[in-house]
Amino acid sequence: MSHQLLWKVPEGEKIKLHKYDPSYTHPEIRHEDADDILAKLGKELGELQELLSAAQHHSLLMIVQGMDTSGKDGTISHVFSQINPQGCEVHSFKVPTAEEAAHDFLWRIHKATPAKGMLGIFNRSQYEDVLVTRVHNLVPEEVWSKRYTNINNFEKLLHQNGTIILKFFLHISQEEQTKRLKARVDDKDKAWKISTSDFAERKYWDDYQKAYEDALSQCSTDEAPWYIVPADHKWYRNVAIAQTLVDTMQQYKDEWTTDLEARGHKELEELQQMRATKQITDI
Ligand code: AMP
Ligand code: MG
Repeated sequence: MSHQLLWKVPEGEKIKLHKYDPSYTHPEIRHEDADDILAKLGKELGELQELLSAAQHHSLLMIVQGMDTSGKDGTISHVFSQINPQGCEVHSFKVPTAEEAAHDFLWRIHKATPAKGMLGIFNRSQYEDVLVTRVHNLVPEEVWSKRYTNINNFEKLLHQNGTIILKFFLHISQEEQTKRLKARVDDKDKAWKISTSDFAERKYWDDYQKAYEDALSQCSTDEAPWYIVPADHKWYRNVAIAQTLVDTMQQYKDEWTTDLEARGHKELEELQQMRATKQITDI
């Protein structure tokens, strides 16, 4: 495809979010085809996850961040609908508990990282500690400003231990957020989704955008890139993320397959040996 689906943040790039259109869609991806495209990508993702799980070389960590109503939950349920639940774990990070708050900010995060072979999804993450924490002055600047380096070092450690990391920022416009919140108020069936804090947080929109700009600018690396996802259109957001996951995992497919073939050969040879020495006689 000649255009890109979403925007990968180059290491060291200073990001200004207003330059990225939240309602962007790729000219070759039509709304009416989105369900079929997503179903096909979901199947590929399922196959790649099976290889990831069997090869045990890597783990995959996908981080999802975004303003309230940006679609973090919807993304996870739609993109991973064809994934084997046994190979997948989702962690949603909330306001830290007393025990979590008594430790360093990465303590609860590190415990939740995916083991080899696993696909881990973070719904919110270590980035809350340079987002909500910063916007609401929950700790002094002197404390949160050091966390970008802490996060980069932490993600480097995960990478060096075989974790493939992708970070998606679901970029919505303020108009789209207004629409989504209104829909929850107007539709009784959606009222359960209302969280009064979402309404209160709206007045901090600009502060959050600024905090996101710094997180994206300071913490996008080759090993753990940030992707800005145009997320005003839900159907498009899902396709763009699923395609990016598939493209990333495809790069490892040969390595995983070759290793599994070698392992299969080795097992068969051992079996032959056991037959030859009559340790196995019935198969
Ligand atoms: P939700 O994702 O809608 O269930 O909301 C979770 C809430 O937890 C959000 O309001 C987040 O801002 C908040 N939260 C998550 N992590 C932290 C953190 N490290 N410090 C303070 N609040 C947090
Ligand atoms: Mg919420």
